[in-house]
Amino acid sequence: MTLEFSRDFDPAYGRLVEIAPGIRRMTVANPSAFTFAGTNTYVVGEGRVAVIDPGPADPGHLHALRAALSGETITRILVTHTHRDHSPNAAALAAETGAASYGAGPHRPAPGAHPVGGSGRLDAAGDTAFVPTRPVGDGEIIEGEGFRLQAVATPGHADNHLAFALLGTDILFSGDHVMGWATTVVAPPDGSMRDYMASLDVLLARPESRYLPGHGGAVGNAHSHLRGLKAHRRMRERAILDRLAKGDETVPEIVAAIYRDVDPRLHGAAGLSTLAHLQDLVARGLVACGAAPDLAARYALAPG
Ligand SMILES: [Zn+2]
Repeated sequence: MTLEFSRDFDPAYGRLVEIAPGIRRMTVANPSAFTFAGTNTYVVGEGRVAVIDPGPADPGHLHALRAALSGETITRILVTHTHRDHSPNAAALAAETGAASYGAGPHRPAPGAHPVGGSGRLDAAGDTAFVPTRPVGDGEIIEGEGFRLQAVATPGHADNHLAFALLGTDILFSGDHVMGWATTVVAPPDGSMRDYMASLDVLLARPESRYLPGHGGAVGNAHSHLRGLKAHRRMRERAILDRLAKGDETVPEIVAAIYRDVDPRLHGAAGLSTLAHLQDLVARGLVACGAAPDLAARYALAPG
């Protein structure tokens, strides 16, 4: 199975672009190795609208968004997850508009998360300030004027990650869980590989076929992409088990061997992704670790 990524995307910074009937997108000018061309803010509806992921603390983006929506009213602010490229603008936007904010709760580590150890923690990832005025659970429906959005709990990239299905259409806002330009980062302590894989299955069981992600362009044929993502992670898992069988014992040794083709700026994330796999393998009894399974620990194949 080949997993295909596309980096073909025009961010059109500062402009609100219609991408489907009743759906517009404005991309924040915060491009980076982690955010690709920048964070996508989506506007759902017309007249009285919902905003999904207002973005990082960036007054310029908010100003451009509100100018593009002049004559319309923002009534709801939805947050896919509390990473700093998605949620911090929510507070200012709520204060300016009086709109309610919706999300799966404040930032939190994955259940059973182990300390990462060392200096491996991805800096500046979590937005610990965001608190939704309307906490949303899995399956809950957010009713707007002319649209209904259903929250789909999709932990893995972040424990409080939600996707939003636009009911009555084939569209799902997939946040950072599923994107078309790259695989997502699954990094402890926010992320959990076990939850991420289960959340891919959650989306496979749903009907939506076209995803609008937090970064980059739409993902068409989404179920095929989901199957490719699952196969990709299983391949990484096999590669890690293979390195352990060959005698590697540490995260840096494994990363050096299996992430040769990856942008060196992402090696810190690769280490955490490898750690996410190792913690999952330890939990499943396939890998042994004498101490807490963190970045500094030594790992081996479990006997038997
Ligand atoms: Zn993001």
